[in-house]
Amino acid sequence: MSRTVYVNGDYLPEEEAKISVFDRGFLMADGVYEVTSVLKGKLIDFPGHMARLDRSLGELDLTLPVSHDELLAIHRKLVEANNIVEGLIYMQVTRGAADRDFTFPEDATPSLVLFTQSKALIENPAAARGIKVIAVPDQRWARRDIKTVQLLAPSLAKMEAKRAGKDDAWMIEDGFVTEGTSNNAYIVTRDGRIITRDLSNRILHGITRAAVLACARDAQMQVEERPFTLSEAQDAAEAFITSASGFVMPVVEVDGTTLGDGTPGPVAKRLREIYIAESLKHAI
Ligand code: PMP
Repeated sequence: MSRTVYVNGDYLPEEEAKISVFDRGFLMADGVYEVTSVLKGKLIDFPGHMARLDRSLGELDLTLPVSHDELLAIHRKLVEANNIVEGLIYMQVTRGAADRDFTFPEDATPSLVLFTQSKALIENPAAARGIKVIAVPDQRWARRDIKTVQLLAPSLAKMEAKRAGKDDAWMIEDGFVTEGTSNNAYIVTRDGRIITRDLSNRILHGITRAAVLACARDAQMQVEERPFTLSEAQDAAEAFITSASGFVMPVVEVDGTTLGDGTPGPVAKRLREIYIAESLKHAI
């Protein structure tokens, strides 16, 4: 069945949803995005996604063509129109269409596109079995804190993982893991400490990361925000990733090394449960 897609003020059947070939999102990856998950028909962590969207837009001198309230209403209307009980809403803002030039156009109107994807997020088989990751060099630009649509490096990394028969890739820079291709990376040491990379321009500031770390601290778990190496990861008791679409996803193999007994670890499983329960409480 055809989905309803939002394009610059219109709700259209997906076949009719179109953007100009001159849109700078298409020509220059001049745009930012957010992905918000939907559980029981409600939005998870919407204020967090709005805050990060504003930050990304501000860093690129881009303006949102609608208010946050209007954006919330668009999200809700798409959830309803497409009957999304569980899944994702993708939202993209670009600088808009203008004759091709490296300098920003003076008069372009930003483009806003949103669409939904229905998907089982809680009963995700990958969460039950745990995922396997390879290590690849981090080849992305230096402003990974801005959620831009230029995703070719992580896309190539994920393809490399797929060709190797694995699920994802952890990117390595200067000897340390930065993050996964579309998620934040964590290890749990043998003495139970949760380690994840500290926030900087080198990683995306995950909305799920912030929420999961708050859950971990509330549950009296010990958290260290610092870089960790690939060999620390391979020596860890367990590992996991977080993202809006995957929540907390256990990692059972890191670049060929099996962690523990090769099944999802207790910390990842517990955090997944706590995070889902907390998210549902605050969903809007
Ligand atoms: N890092 C990267 C590189 C990502 O692309 C994503 C998801 N878009 C994340 C981390 C996780 O962020 P969030 O929890 O906000 O989905």
